[in-house]
Amino acid sequence: MTTYGERLAAMNKAHVWHPFTQMKDYNNSEPLIIERGEGIRLFDMQGRAYYDGFSSVWLNVHGHNVPELNEAIADQLGRVAHSTLLGMANIPAIELAGKLAEIAPQGLTKVFYSDSGATGVEIALKMAFQYWHNRGTKGKTTFATMNQAYHGDTIGAVSVGAIPLYHETFRPMLFPSRVIPYPYAYRHEGGEQGAMESTLSALRQLLETEADRIAALIVEPIVQGASGIIVMPPGCLREMAALCRKHDVLLIADEVATGFGRTGAMFACELEGVAPDLMVVGKGLTGGYLPVAATLATDKVYEAFYADYEEQKTFFHGHSFTGNPLGCAVALASLKLLEERRMVEGVEAKASFVARKLAALNDRPHVGEIRQKGLMIGIELVRDKVSREAYGWTERIGVRASLRARELGMLTRPLGNVIVFIPPLASSEAELDEMTDILAASIVHAT
Ligand code: PLP
Repeated sequence: MTTYGERLAAMNKAHVWHPFTQMKDYNNSEPLIIERGEGIRLFDMQGRAYYDGFSSVWLNVHGHNVPELNEAIADQLGRVAHSTLLGMANIPAIELAGKLAEIAPQGLTKVFYSDSGATGVEIALKMAFQYWHNRGTKGKTTFATMNQAYHGDTIGAVSVGAIPLYHETFRPMLFPSRVIPYPYAYRHEGGEQGAMESTLSALRQLLETEADRIAALIVEPIVQGASGIIVMPPGCLREMAALCRKHDVLLIADEVATGFGRTGAMFACELEGVAPDLMVVGKGLTGGYLPVAATLATDKVYEAFYADYEEQKTFFHGHSFTGNPLGCAVALASLKLLEERRMVEGVEAKASFVARKLAALNDRPHVGEIRQKGLMIGIELVRDKVSREAYGWTERIGVRASLRARELGMLTRPLGNVIVFIPPLASSEAELDEMTDILAASIVHAT
């Protein structure tokens, strides 16, 4: 007699193709099948508890099975689960758009819904492209992006992505983008200052020579996520935004990972007083509950599309589930909790606590750099601390550390040699204490 758990494991192996996963490795490993969640913990089918140390891929905000969020969905479910935004509206979608316009950086007043970060990025790219087209400006058809950028996995998002491991295979399918260096201070001989100068001078040079061909610059503000939680030097984003403004190139802020408090501000752009032309949000928008994303635009962008139909300026884009009422209802409830519980304001104290705890790891021989902005933390492990020589990617040092963390009761997913710690905003100090202990023990074990 096989158990239900065993049958599920066999079905998982037979039928589920997992994202970003070499299935040969996966099928040879012990599957983790989550059954339920409570607070910031997830429980597997055997009842084992795990801290959600990466917020289920950087999106969970308030923890799991949160009564207020469950109720918001149930309440909306009793009204209507879905109706289209094609030529009609629904109540939660309207209310959420109003709320987003209220809390977003200045000037972002229009909200276009989608269902994942990648689709939100596609929308921003198409909007920026068509913005220039509608205004009759010829030739601004290329995008600028940053080295090692990650904006999602659809073709447009991959075209402005610059992580060779993920993106290179698809190169023949992609449109070319202009790539400028990301300020990766730890691996720049000039440190923070030098890294920032390299970025700014490359952007300056690009815009001085090619601004007439560039529709927009897309950037992960303050923290570049998938490349290894790399934090920009202070002032860099502000300077980049100013250069875009000066050269009449739109700025797209991809706040999919950084939005909704993760960095200690509601949106990372706010940390440098930057108001982008387009902003993409996803992940934490619904507290991490349902797949809703949004692309916010300024009046200036919107007005370029606002015309008589015959002028052919309509934005012909949409998804079946655009503006889904269940998703919008839970997003509203999540934003309400963020406000009522003053959670964004609370990030600073939690982040300082984590920083103090992790500082002890600096003495460890293979800890190269601990990077942190708010509750986004990446710990880069190196083979040699002095020369900063990296571990080879086949050594899978990050995987080893995260497997150990799982044995010790915390889930996280590494980015190459970088151990990621992005706990839900709702984590208490006691929980952060335990999670950072597990993190440290797993790093010690792996190195
Ligand atoms: N943009 C950024 C900065 C991200 O970190 C991600 C996902 O990690 C995305 C876009 C893509 O979001 P999604 O996975 O929801 O498509």
